[in-house]
Amino acid sequence: MLLAGDIGGTKTLLGLFDQQPSRPRAILIRAFTTLDFPDLNAMIAAFADESGGRGAGIATACFGVAGPVINDTAELTNVPWRVDAPTIGRAFGIPRVLLLNDLQATAYAVPVLHGDELHTLQAGKAVEGGDMALIAAGTGLGQALLHRVDGRFVSSPSEAGHADWGARNEREISVLRSLIHRFGRAEVEQVVSGQGLVNLHRVTHPGACPAVEDADDPDAPAAISRAALERTCERCMEALSIFVDAYGAEAGNVALRSMATGGVFISGGIAPKILPALVDGRFMRAFLEKAPLDGMLSRVPVKVVLNTDAGLLGAAVHAAAARA
Ligand SMILES: [Zn+2]
Repeated sequence: MLLAGDIGGTKTLLGLFDQQPSRPRAILIRAFTTLDFPDLNAMIAAFADESGGRGAGIATACFGVAGPVINDTAELTNVPWRVDAPTIGRAFGIPRVLLLNDLQATAYAVPVLHGDELHTLQAGKAVEGGDMALIAAGTGLGQALLHRVDGRFVSSPSEAGHADWGARNEREISVLRSLIHRFGRAEVEQVVSGQGLVNLHRVTHPGACPAVEDADDPDAPAAISRAALERTCERCMEALSIFVDAYGAEAGNVALRSMATGGVFISGGIAPKILPALVDGRFMRAFLEKAPLDGMLSRVPVKVVLNTDAGLLGAAVHAAAARA
């Protein structure tokens, strides 16, 4: 038996999985509101109560955590939790407890995803055994790489969302000026994330917006993309247009930095919600605008991950591999 978790700033998924050769099978999955619990141990205890003994004999646990993992310990970026692998192991008698960055965990799901869990933006021509990369805009912006090492994929974490954002045209330079004025510098995450969409909304709306009353509302990013997709506010359409361009351009940057000849995968909560805006050509145009390497990039498969539980699945995949 395996225990897997995807620990986010807002929502946490815990799941029990059966050991299977490549893709562990889910037995029980539960979603929790992260801040309803003082720490992960209390949440695991509540999950164990619900599982009614099905969680007996857990050999390995693996958790993807929204924050940097150092020495088997993670401080979450937006939650006052400290997750410590050895403490969990001792508390629940689990011999092996692994912690990963959440995107690193999601990356482990990529090789086992089925065709209907992906939407192809560019078929390309994958190089057999080529490295892959993952980019995910949600509350923040995450990136992870999948390297082929000794016949299996090993994922590596990053804090690439906090790297500098490169503006590519006059419209983006005006966004860059606004971000530098407000924050002192411009991170990629301040453009390509839910909060990034709100920052873009601020730039494109000199006056009031019929769709969003309060830009600080946690639902503002969803309201902006809805107004853009339903074409009810032209300035929201402009904000989403800049967002999609910047997302595609950054996905292209990830492909260049990692030589992801096996594919670039677009994960995170936003992509499935704005799929009509990702498939209309703008995203891939921005992805490919990297002359003289546009030819190489045109052969990179680019796919949207539609499975919103991929982070949990990836943690289970990693737990299964570690146990073998
Ligand atoms: Zn608007």
